[in-house]
Amino acid sequence: MKRWEREGVVELEDLDIPSEEYLRKGVAITECLQEIPCNPCVEACPVDAISMETINDTPKIDYEKCIGCGNCVDACPGLAMFLVKVTGDSALITLPYEFLPVPEKEERVKALNREGKEICDAVVKRIRRGRTTLVTIEVPAEYALEARNIKVVR
Ligand code: SF4
Ligand code: SF4
Repeated sequence: MKRWEREGVVELEDLDIPSEEYLRKGVAITECLQEIPCNPCVEACPVDAISMETINDTPKIDYEKCIGCGNCVDACPGLAMFLVKVTGDSALITLPYEFLPVPEKEERVKALNREGKEICDAVVKRIRRGRTTLVTIEVPAEYALEARNIKVVR
């Protein structure tokens, strides 16, 4: 049994990680591993970049098609979609955020890994309020594949 099944903690080896080229372009990464009947992410994608063979399948992202719009992050009820864009020494990560308070743009926060542990400082670059509040943070590029949540520190 994998760790995500035992403890709910996803590990990198469970994921389809985009190449460096696609990470520089900025694409969605799915961390949806449970085979449940769900597909709002597929419906939300304007360029048909997300596919599933059946409604119970887990989503696959075509990184060539993905334009990094974030619609799937907004639509996912499981908080299992993220956007990652690596730019030089830093990375922009867009994550679904359901806690209060919602941070302000340019606020300094702590980035957390998938276990909820603090891993680095981050700066909030964008807030998008839709079905889900999306927070885009900037972190050092080395944390692009680790930072998956934030803690507001005031
Ligand atoms: S980020 Fe936009 S284009 Fe990319 S998979 Fe999600 S909905 Fe589709
Ligand atoms: S909407 Fe979210 S939970 Fe549902 S299939 Fe897509 S990624 Fe998985």
